[in-house]
Amino acid sequence: MKQWLKQIYQHLFALFFPDHCAVCRQRGTLLCGNCRATLQAYPTMAVPTDLVSIQVGWIYDEPARRAIHCLKYRGRRRMGGVLAEALATTLTPPAADALIPVPLHPDRLNERGFNQAEELANSLGLCWGIRVCNRGLERERDTGHQARLNREARQGNVAGAFFWHGPGRPPARVILIDDVVTTGATLSACAEALLAAGAKEVHAIALARSLVRGSSGSAVRRHFAQRRRRQA
Ligand SMILES: [Zn+2]
Repeated sequence: MKQWLKQIYQHLFALFFPDHCAVCRQRGTLLCGNCRATLQAYPTMAVPTDLVSIQVGWIYDEPARRAIHCLKYRGRRRMGGVLAEALATTLTPPAADALIPVPLHPDRLNERGFNQAEELANSLGLCWGIRVCNRGLERERDTGHQARLNREARQGNVAGAFFWHGPGRPPARVILIDDVVTTGATLSACAEALLAAGAKEVHAIALARSLVRGSSGSAVRRHFAQRRRRQA
């Protein structure tokens, strides 16, 4: 679409469908200041296999869930920029040569029209002054809906689903960008593909993670591991 035509379309769209806060429905913004202030910082998460570090912005509870659903399922691509700007002021990225968004399978990309992780990476790249590498890492297998699988099934499901197709080697120091992280199996599978192709270190940054499903489970596992060590 020509640029001027696109701008007219965007103005008309905004006139008939004005922005609403994804959480409280206040008009004129996609995420109002009050709701943004209710996003809760995520505590530290155990680093998934093959990664050097991982940082998660917020707990995936009601305000974060609504904002991320607005981006993913209601097609508000600009929400990617809003969330990325909020995240950029919350986290400090490790030193890196490039941000790489976790890719969608081409079928899913066609379905949604855009990759939400790419929207986030593009805005985070501008905020942090790190280049974004949107080509090269590809998802070759459609892994379906990870949310319905347990930890072991997730790992098996995404193992070998990603490949680096170049051109050339991947950047040496990479930060993977994703929206919601659960077990970290997808990030590990991406990191494995990047390391196999010549990357030196892979970090990850994600918007949100559920406290119930993820960290309480690992906290319980840590507790039992410590108890076993004490008994040994
Ligand atoms: Zn609000």
